[in-house]
Amino acid sequence: MQVQQNFLLKKYNTFGIEVYAKYFAEFDSINVLQEVLPSIASGNFPILILGGGSNILFTKNFEGLILKNELRGISVIKEDDEFVYVQAGAGENWHQFVLYCLQKNLSGVENLSLIPGNVGASPMQNIGAYGVEIKDVFYELEAFHLKEKTGTRFDSIACEFGYRDSIFKRRYKDQFAILNVTFRLNKKPQYNISYGAIEQELKQMGVQELSIHAISQAVINIRSSKLPDPTVIGNAGSFFKNPEVSLQKLHELKRNYPEIISYPLPNGNVKLAAAWLIDQCGWKGYRKGDAGCYAKQALVLVNYSNASGKEIYELSEKIKISVMQKFNIDLEREVNII
Ligand SMILES: Cc1cc2nc3c(=O)[nH]c(=O)nc-3n(C[C@H](O)[C@H](O)[C@H](O)COP(=O)(O)OP(=O)(O)OC[C@H]3O[C@@H](n4cnc5c(N)ncnc54)[C@H](O)[C@@H]3O)c2cc1C
Repeated sequence: MQVQQNFLLKKYNTFGIEVYAKYFAEFDSINVLQEVLPSIASGNFPILILGGGSNILFTKNFEGLILKNELRGISVIKEDDEFVYVQAGAGENWHQFVLYCLQKNLSGVENLSLIPGNVGASPMQNIGAYGVEIKDVFYELEAFHLKEKTGTRFDSIACEFGYRDSIFKRRYKDQFAILNVTFRLNKKPQYNISYGAIEQELKQMGVQELSIHAISQAVINIRSSKLPDPTVIGNAGSFFKNPEVSLQKLHELKRNYPEIISYPLPNGNVKLAAAWLIDQCGWKGYRKGDAGCYAKQALVLVNYSNASGKEIYELSEKIKISVMQKFNIDLEREVNII
């Protein structure tokens, strides 16, 4: 493995932040990782596993080693009457994996079309969109403990998936490299078009007969019209999570804001639309220098060109404070701050 020094990360994070990693290397096999770790692990500096860099905000140079995951390969490992189990290397592009499933007529990930990033990061925050999360199709993953240098398998329960959350964002933060993920996909399509604008988009597309291909295309159309393309405007998708509050809190808020947007949750609480809260605080379309809040979607913070990670972070802090002041709600960041 070739370890490079003072490595520019601008092209390796979708915010396009110009920061440097003290050390940077790519690994495309577990052997390479095993070879290089003993020597670097003694170097008492942080290690960060990097995928597509689409859920990260670098606020400063990284004074450690960044290991870019390039583990490839997609294959069917088993099947039964109902399901096909597909294993994908952590370095595979997520959307390419979705296309693989579509091509094989396997259902379950079509609603997750066009989410940027790699397969290995998908369990990290249990990626989700349009009513589906990867926990719905997740079977197991294989991970490598960076210090103990041992491999472990995690099933769905062990991953402790939650809303944009898993054990890898909490107790096991920065401890494991996820090597591959196995998904359990349906042979018979299970359509989920109840969420968001999918149904409306399918109508607009003139779709007569529902299929996973049509749903995927509808999702692609909606996402392309709403979200900024990171190759054009730097961003990491939703910057904040949608906050969960009690029904009582919702009733209190409704007295002053009858039009507040909320979704019921199975536990009796409700989820509020963070974008709506941010918009109400007047941030939508805000821009200072090159840091801004996207005009078409207030949940997305953007780097128009040369904003620093610190400037984006400071903007997110101001947004958090104003939402707290207006609604007494503490917004939680979805993006990993480094
Ligand atoms: C335009 C846009 C739209 C988006 N829409 C959505 C959406 O609809 N739903 C959604 O859930 N997310 C969305 N995201 C966020 C992002 O795409 C996902 O979180 C994605 O899974 C991140 O993948 P990545 O490979 O880029 O991860 P990175 O940003 O490289 O890493 C994210 C975190 O995971 C860790 N990590 C990455 N790979 C590994 C590995 N193999 N082993 C261990 N740790 C690892 C990193 O250390 C880091 O902490 C969007 C982002 C953008 C830019």
